[in-house]
This record gives sequence, structure tokens and C-alpha cells, in this order.
Amino acid sequence: MTFFSQYDAQLTTHEQELVQRARDFCAGAFSSEVHDAHLRGEPFAREWIGKWAALGMFGLQSRVEDGGHGASFLCKVRVAQEMARHGFAAAFCLNNLQGQATRISKQGSEEQRRAYLQPLMTGAMLSAPAMTEPGGGSDLGPLATTARRVDSGWSISGTKAWITNGCIVDAITLLARVEEDGALATFFVPLGDGATARRREIVMPGARSFRLAEIELRDHRVPDSALMSQPGEALRAAMEGVNAARVHVAAMAVASLHAALCEATRYCANRQAFGKPLLAHQGLQWELAEVSVRLEAANALVLKAAQLVNERLSAVIAAAQCKKFAVDTAIWGIDQCIRAMGATGASGTHRLGQQLAEVRLAAFGDGTNEMMLDRIGRGLAKDYADAVGYDERGQQP
Ligand SMILES: Cc1cc2nc3c(=O)[nH]c(=O)nc-3n(C[C@H](O)[C@H](O)[C@H](O)COP(=O)(O)OP(=O)(O)OC[C@H]3O[C@@H](n4cnc5c(N)ncnc54)[C@H](O)[C@@H]3O)c2cc1C
Repeated sequence: MTFFSQYDAQLTTHEQELVQRARDFCAGAFSSEVHDAHLRGEPFAREWIGKWAALGMFGLQSRVEDGGHGASFLCKVRVAQEMARHGFAAAFCLNNLQGQATRISKQGSEEQRRAYLQPLMTGAMLSAPAMTEPGGGSDLGPLATTARRVDSGWSISGTKAWITNGCIVDAITLLARVEEDGALATFFVPLGDGATARRREIVMPGARSFRLAEIELRDHRVPDSALMSQPGEALRAAMEGVNAARVHVAAMAVASLHAALCEATRYCANRQAFGKPLLAHQGLQWELAEVSVRLEAANALVLKAAQLVNERLSAVIAAAQCKKFAVDTAIWGIDQCIRAMGATGASGTHRLGQQLAEVRLAAFGDGTNEMMLDRIGRGLAKDYADAVGYDERGQQP
């Protein structure tokens, strides 16, 4: 049984073939590209986005009738894990682009599908979700981007922040407040090349492959057909996908840590100190053993939550629990792996420094760890104190 075999056993033959395709691609030149770019302090080269698209990966979850693979959530998770073993940020970005094609395929209007789906699936057009603003991330209450009705369309004004791939996207799926009644609506907004849309890179030292940017719109015009979620329905639609996103980020964090533990174990099994391999020294062996224990626990939580999402069952608490635990575990565990290897573990000879710098940011995207605890905390009374099937004496009535 391999580390990921419990996921793989649930995939169709076609999905297993997609995972294999992703594995072969990522383990090739892509792997050195993302690491070399990290060492240069640059994002991975843009041409790799086109190569990933050419593998058919942007159509992974799009509907079969739209030319996509119609793959399950578990398959998407496994494909992203294969990428995350080589670079968490690159995996996050490529998956984000795929998610936008999926959203148009599954939630877009006929007109939006006709205009944008093929370009999104081939990588000719790149898009990103845009909810966060400089004035608020966890709390969407103060969301200040406005959409004002104008002749045959909308005028959008406001600034979005921390947009993944924001430096290069051609469009954003934007959450805005409709000026006339304050309700939230979602728009698919091509950015064009005019003066009404400006962007500024948010430089993340050590993690520039996220290509994070702030995007400012000033009286930016879109047609009526840009509306994706009607006023009043946007928040519910955005939240529908958030549990899946959290599980998915957690799954990638687990894959990055798994790769780090494999690398550290290989190195420590070969490196000699005081007449025997590092791994034969009990103190160090136990440190890596502890990493393996927590890694397996994180993976079990991710698998449970991924199965709930896959089966469209309620995953709110499981998603929050697995994201919080998997991300914390990956940050702690990769650091442990670096320490076990000695100074070389932190050097550019190995990938662990890159993974640590990138995985750290997973604690913010798709809800911070504190917000995960907040969500779990609010569910405690329902999920545990009144646990179904037991009375207050621990008896089953
Ligand atoms: C790599 C990366 C990619 C991202 N991609 C996107 C994207 O594509 N699109 C997009 O819209 N956004 C994106 N984001 C933004 C992300 O969603 C926000 O960073 C996140 O929502 C948190 O918002 P904030 O950073 O403004 O922190 P804040 O909300 O300002 O929070 C600051 C701190 O306060 C804590 N805090 C806040 N409220 C509470 C509370 N009630 N109780 C306890 N603690 C609290 C937080 O946990 C955090 O530690 C991305 C972020 C990162 C790092």
C-alpha cells in the first residue's frame, strides 16, 4: 500500500490515468523548473502553464459535454498532490486556474460558457477568484468593491488584494456589492488592457510563484452577461466551494510534507555520523518518526474530508479541521525535516526550504487557521456535547 493508495483505489481507470499523467509531467523538467525559479527569486516560467493546459489538466473537472474530463473531487485532489510534491505554490496556482474553468463549465451561463470556456481550458485565457480586499480578508463585511448599473451593463470600482496569479490573469471572478441595495453579486470580469484595470505585484519573498497581486478597477465596464451569481446569492455560491478548497489546500500540504519526509529520510539513511547513519541515532530517528505519525494523522483527516466532499455530504467541520491540522503539521514537519538533515537541509541543494516558504502561506489562503478554529468552535456544542447516540452518562439509549 502506498501513501496515496486509499485515494487512488476510489478513482476510475480514466482518473487513475490522469493522475499518472500528472505524476509523469511533474516529476520531469517541471520539478527542476519550479525549484530553480525559487532559487532565482522568480515565479516559475509562464510557459509551464501552457504545457499543463496542453495535458488537458485545465479541463479536469469541467463537464464532459463541454470537452472536460468530468473528474471527481478525489481525482482533482490527487492531481494537485502530485504537483505539490514538487512545489506547493505552483500546484496552488495551476489548480486555481483549473478551478476557474470548472466554475464557468458548471455555474456559468450559456453565453459565458460559449465565450470563455475553451480559452480557459486551453490556457489562452487565465482567470482568478477575487474576493479579498485590502480592507478585509477573513471578514467580508466591509467589502467595498461596488457594481453600479449602467446602460446594458455594470460599472465596477474597487480594489481586490492577494489575487493568486494576479500578475498574469486576463480576467477575475469578482465579488462586488451592488450599489443600489448593497447585496453581493459575482461577475466574470475580463480585465482588458485599458486604464480602468491596474495591477501591482504583492512581492512574497521565497514564494513568488503564487504571482500574488492587487488589482484595482475604476469605472471598469462589463456587459450584463458578466453577471454570474445574482445579487443576494453570491455569498452562498462562494461558500459552496470553500469547503472543497480547504480540503484541497490541506491535501496539498500533506503531499508537500510527505515529499519532505521522504527526502529527509533518504538523506539521513545515507549520511554517516559517529560511525553510523544519522537515521540509526535514536534521537534523530524519533524526530522523523514523530513527523511520520502526525503526517499520517493529517492524511487521515484529509481523506475523511475529501470523501465527504466527493460524496456531496456536509463537510464544513471536517474541512476546517483537516485544513487547520494539515497546514500546521506541514509547516512544523517540513521544518523538522530540515533540522534533521543539518545545514544542507536548509540549502538550495534540497527542496525543503522552498516548500516551507510556500506552505507557510497556506495558513492564510481559503480561510486562516484562526478562522478554522472559530468555525470548529461554533460547532462544538452540536458536534460533540450533544453527540448523537450517547446520553450524558456515555450510554447509548
Ligand atoms: C497564497 C495566498 C493566495 C491567496 N489567493 C487569493 C485569491 O486568489 N483570491 C482572493 O480573493 N483572496 C486570496 N487570498 C487572500 C486570503 O483569502 C486572505 O489572506 C484571508 O482571507 C485572510 O485575510 P487577511 O490576510 O486580510 O487577514 P485578516 O482577515 O486581516 O486577519 C489577520 C489575522 O487576524 C486573524 N483573525 C481575523 N479575524 C479573527 C477572529 N474573528 N478571531 C481570531 N482571529 C482572527 C486572522 O486569522 C489573521 O491571523 C490569498 C492569500 C494567500 C496568502
